[in-house]
Amino acid sequence: MRTSIATVSLSGSLTEKLTAASRAGFDGVEIFENDLLASPLTPEEIRGRCADLGLTIDLYQPMRDIEAVPSDEFGRNLRRARHKFELMRRLGADTVLVCSSVHPLAVDDDALAAYHLRQLADLAQDFGIRVAYEALAWGRHVSTYDHAWRIVEAADHPALGTCLDSFHILSRGSEPKSLEGIADIPGEKIFFLQLADAPLLAMDVLQWSRHYRCFPGQGGFDVADLVRRVLQTGYDGPLSLEVFNDVFRQAEAGPTAVDAHRSLLVLQDAVGVSTPPAPVVPTGVAFAELVTPDAEPISALLGALGFTRTARHRSKPVDLWQQGEARVLVNTAGAARRDGTGLAAIGLESPDPAAAARRAEALLAPVLPRRRALEDAPLDAVEAPDGTELFFCATDRPELPNWRTDFTDVGHESGTPGVMGIDHLALVQPWHHFDEATLFHRSVLGLHAQESVDVADPYGLMRSRAVTNADGSVRIALSVGAAPTDDTVHAQHIALATDDVVGAARRFREAGGRVLPIPGNYYDDLAARYEFADGELETYRELGILYDRDPHGEFRHCYTVTVGRVFFELVQRDGYRGYGAQNAPVRLAAQHAGRPVR
Ligand code: MG
Ligand code: MG
Repeated sequence: MRTSIATVSLSGSLTEKLTAASRAGFDGVEIFENDLLASPLTPEEIRGRCADLGLTIDLYQPMRDIEAVPSDEFGRNLRRARHKFELMRRLGADTVLVCSSVHPLAVDDDALAAYHLRQLADLAQDFGIRVAYEALAWGRHVSTYDHAWRIVEAADHPALGTCLDSFHILSRGSEPKSLEGIADIPGEKIFFLQLADAPLLAMDVLQWSRHYRCFPGQGGFDVADLVRRVLQTGYDGPLSLEVFNDVFRQAEAGPTAVDAHRSLLVLQDAVGVSTPPAPVVPTGVAFAELVTPDAEPISALLGALGFTRTARHRSKPVDLWQQGEARVLVNTAGAARRDGTGLAAIGLESPDPAAAARRAEALLAPVLPRRRALEDAPLDAVEAPDGTELFFCATDRPELPNWRTDFTDVGHESGTPGVMGIDHLALVQPWHHFDEATLFHRSVLGLHAQESVDVADPYGLMRSRAVTNADGSVRIALSVGAAPTDDTVHAQHIALATDDVVGAARRFREAGGRVLPIPGNYYDDLAARYEFADGELETYRELGILYDRDPHGEFRHCYTVTVGRVFFELVQRDGYRGYGAQNAPVRLAAQHAGRPVR
């Protein structure tokens, strides 16, 4: 299907918005009046620019409060409409949006509304223009799509149809019964379909709409169900995104447009009108790769955690540290990075790395060039929205290129490992990429997104949302933090699974490791909330171990101090399914308290 996006959904000048929409692969745009008014380009130049960019102008939005108003007001509306229709002729736009009136003097009179819209459509027809009438959820007298359609039907004019907007419809309720009326509208009378999702919030619908809309798949609405219903009417116009969102307004237009277009590709997949390559769900974490200007502090930390340096890359300054199934690569080729040690890449075990990369590419994920040395295994990799490189790996599968063969053994683990593997990876997202990151991991990697949780931070609020595969062998906690410039606190972390966190923490400390200190008040509160065996709580207090419980089991965990922009967590998960969100405020406060003075 054709895809379109409203210019209001993107930041920047009209030219920047058009360029971003075109580069992201959209077929058309809806132009908002304000974007045109503020542009130095003439309507003819805008038309030419769109043509050069391969974009059609699918809709123009200049008109409000048209119908069911006093007659002198309506006379002025028609005069204004004539000017706008002339402008649209110069633009080459053939559909105009008219939202249901919010005018204080508008009357509750469907016959008058139909009469006014019929007159407007008559005028539009002279210019070869169609009028799409849309019910705003907060319209003064017309606020539902079926009411708007009854008025359009009564007006009975070939140049008048309706515009359906998923936000206005679904914000008023999504019970199947309330959507059944869509099937009564003939497809050729649906002149336009605007799509937006939104998180499920209990707030004033106008504010909800103006600030919190997001792209389909990023919120809580079943946009796919609505689109299926609209397609069943025979609607064959574009799927057009109309998203008012405070974050997208500020974020760079290029990545937002890609995120937006990806949401429509995923939506078309969901409703069955296109079939991109199926997702190849990762089956485990092969490695986490740290890039550091100085290998010494991170090597000391890994050593204290019980890791052994087991192998070295044949052609690059990269060491493999291993403990059980936990593998951490330490790459010192990134010495030029000014921001210190950070998590740069993740290896994900994939049943079919090439197919995983094809899925990613089909959903507009940047596929990374295979920048490896000639003799190295050619690995398929893509870049996540936060810049983390994701490698699709086939460790121990001799028939496929294998990253492990690029490494030469230099040592081996001795004794029983205290760490069994990587429990989860926690990736802090740039503040404007949170919704994009969730959609990316869900759609590109086929991971399941859990509920979003808000966590108190001493200097703001952190939102966090985990994405996982079915058996929990891949868990990524995505978060977006307050104080976005403070990378030492809002750092990435690697959580290591152990079946004995007390033993692991004790060995770590005895090996010279430093556990993040947790205040005594936290343990006093734990004593109030739970009953522990004799001495258990004192052990946790001594070792900085935090505790949580959910209906499925218990969780004990502790944190190392931060090196650069990364820290480790030791976790003992006994049936528990969460990530210790209950304890995160204490952890964040402790990290703020312990950050180096600058
Ligand atoms: Mg709309
Ligand atoms: Mg964690």
